[in-house]
Amino acid sequence: MLRFAPSPTGDMHIGNLRVALFNYIVAQQKHEGLVVRIEDTDKERNIKGKDKEILEILEIFGIKYQEVIYQSKNFKFHSMMALDLLHNKKAFNCFCSPQTLELSREKAKKEKRPYRYDGACENLPAELTIDNQNPFVVRLKKPLHNVIINDLIKGKIEFTPDEIDSFIIMRQDKTPTYNFACGVDDMLSDVSLVIRGEDHVSNSPKQAAIREALGYTKEIQYAHLPIILNELGKKMSKRDNASSVKWMLEEGFLPSAIANYLILIGNAPPQEIFTLEEAVGWFDITKISKAPVRFDLDKLKFINREHLKLMDSKELSRYVGFADEDIGNIAKIYLDEAQTLKELRDKIGSIFDEKVIPDDFFKPAALIRESIKIAPHFETFDEFKNHIVNSTGLRGKNFFKPLRLLLTGSEHGPELSDLYPYLKNYIKEIVK
Ligand code: GLU
Repeated sequence: MLRFAPSPTGDMHIGNLRVALFNYIVAQQKHEGLVVRIEDTDKERNIKGKDKEILEILEIFGIKYQEVIYQSKNFKFHSMMALDLLHNKKAFNCFCSPQTLELSREKAKKEKRPYRYDGACENLPAELTIDNQNPFVVRLKKPLHNVIINDLIKGKIEFTPDEIDSFIIMRQDKTPTYNFACGVDDMLSDVSLVIRGEDHVSNSPKQAAIREALGYTKEIQYAHLPIILNELGKKMSKRDNASSVKWMLEEGFLPSAIANYLILIGNAPPQEIFTLEEAVGWFDITKISKAPVRFDLDKLKFINREHLKLMDSKELSRYVGFADEDIGNIAKIYLDEAQTLKELRDKIGSIFDEKVIPDDFFKPAALIRESIKIAPHFETFDEFKNHIVNSTGLRGKNFFKPLRLLLTGSEHGPELSDLYPYLKNYIKEIVK
């Protein structure tokens, strides 16, 4: 089983979407299922509705899964397992106050060494723990040996017991910490491979130590994906618009193009333009670059245009908000200068919107408009053009500029003779 484990705490980041795509691809390749686990244990950071939004995004991208699990529903298992660990002396109750711990953290900082829990409560005599009314947390005893994580991208990573430390698995309010809930849930879902962002590398040995302490012997493999940097080479944060999947969709990038782009970066695919399902055929998680990848909006735009080109006119017309093959064909012509659906919608919108004609062309435009309004239907652009030239007596720039403005709402753009076959049925509406 593979799993995608988003937290419903904000807009879905493209890094998360990349993780979801890779999980989906590898699940297909391994003929295993994919579960979506909504990690909703941090009640204060949860944002209402984000879970639904995440599931909608998965749907839009064609990422199919078997089941959705809300982590908070597993609390009863987390408590049971914590009790089991306490009973087997793999974990202990810790009564250290937050103030004491803070002091020792500050001391470590001053002495320029990493903070480690000092073990104060690890071997408290039973009489001091039973009936102790003070608030306490539960800590897992640090392992006695190094923990090895086999990472399909980074290779073997070894962690010492001190690096893992005796960390907290249950908070004072008896809710599980992220590492505990995640480590246990991966076991409960029989996960074989965890694919996630590299910001979680240091969590992996903790989660492995939890399972080992619980007596779980199946080894879970890992693949930690390098982070995505923005165009300035800094970690892509919420402040970067392009980090939000929602923003990208609103900007008019196609899901197929976004998926193509996110699978392409840091990878060496056999061709540059492909679909998600095609990627299942050749994708190799072990070949993903170890180095951070840099986000490149121009490249994404290029890929988006290629995906737009691959659509047939009917489909494209639906994407720009119509259901008309002519409009789809107009959109195809505008692909020379537009790269996103938003840009295409603007171009097509300005054909049908009321036109703002600059003063210089106001008079000839009025003449042309009147002539078109009473003209018969012409099949070809030449016939149409000749008719208007003859009826208005306009020539050259005084004819073509206002005609273009009237037909497209813009001074520049594709050849009118290319557009005319698809405009001819709407021509009176366009110049209204
Ligand atoms: N919920 C974590 C996050 O969104 C992911 C945890 C995981 O994949 O293990 O960063």
